[in-house]
Amino acid sequence: MIKAKKSLGQNFLIDQNILKKIVNIVEIKNKTILEIGPGTGNLTSHILSKEPKKVFVIEKDKNLALKLLNDFKDKIKIINKDILLINEKKLDDDKFVVFGNLPYNISTEILSKWILNLDKSKFWFSCLILMFQKEVAERIISKFNSSKYGRISILSNWKLDVKKICDIKSNSFSPRPKVNSSLLYFKPKQFFFDFDNPKNLEKVTKIFFNQRRKMLKKPFNQLFNGNIEIARKLNIDLSLRPQNLDFETYYKLVKEYESLRS
Ligand code: SAH
Repeated sequence: MIKAKKSLGQNFLIDQNILKKIVNIVEIKNKTILEIGPGTGNLTSHILSKEPKKVFVIEKDKNLALKLLNDFKDKIKIINKDILLINEKKLDDDKFVVFGNLPYNISTEILSKWILNLDKSKFWFSCLILMFQKEVAERIISKFNSSKYGRISILSNWKLDVKKICDIKSNSFSPRPKVNSSLLYFKPKQFFFDFDNPKNLEKVTKIFFNQRRKMLKKPFNQLFNGNIEIARKLNIDLSLRPQNLDFETYYKLVKEYESLRS
């Protein structure tokens, strides 16, 4: 019997209907799959039943990695490492379909790492199907003029199209987490703004959203040294709040910020 470790965010998905639903979202047959945090292998079994070409799993917990090895033998390639330390691009030449019932304490860190580290137009995945805490999922998918809109929505939408598949109640997991969850689907965008350094997107949104209830004027002046021309050019009313600017305006602000520095 495996005892779940709270520190590793171990809440295993046990609802068979949900597990079946997850592996029917996209075609798995003959695809190369990457699963993050396979845990006891509940989702992994369902993935294998769909006849993928190859399955890689990344599991940090040594005991679980040993159990997976024992249960699945050479049907999957097990990487007993921390996902945050993996260079996914080096795992395989095929594009991955990625599944993950992510450990919630690092879920946004994983997503941010993936988006920030993508090479210009080379995506190492064809899609991501990921479970988040419901409240975090709402922040990821939210659009401007919403109180949930913020840094992670702007970062996600930069290179990915995002949609919610469904909400999942906490009683679908064991042990049962305190929060509900949502399953999100991400697909690479064909066109997106090209930044000199993606870190500048983080920098700009951080300065704006650290003061989310203040007028835009203050963070704007902080970034552009009072250069009002840029606000005029982008049609920004500086008496609005950070949540009132749409995605594209943020990406344009990053371009302006970068051009001032080059
Ligand atoms: N997918 C499984 C378990 C999800 S729980 C299921 O649905 O049943 C989250 C899993 O991620 C756990 O197995 C946990 O050990 C693993 N994990 C936690 N932190 C990790 C990290 N940094 N890198 C890789 N795996 C991690």
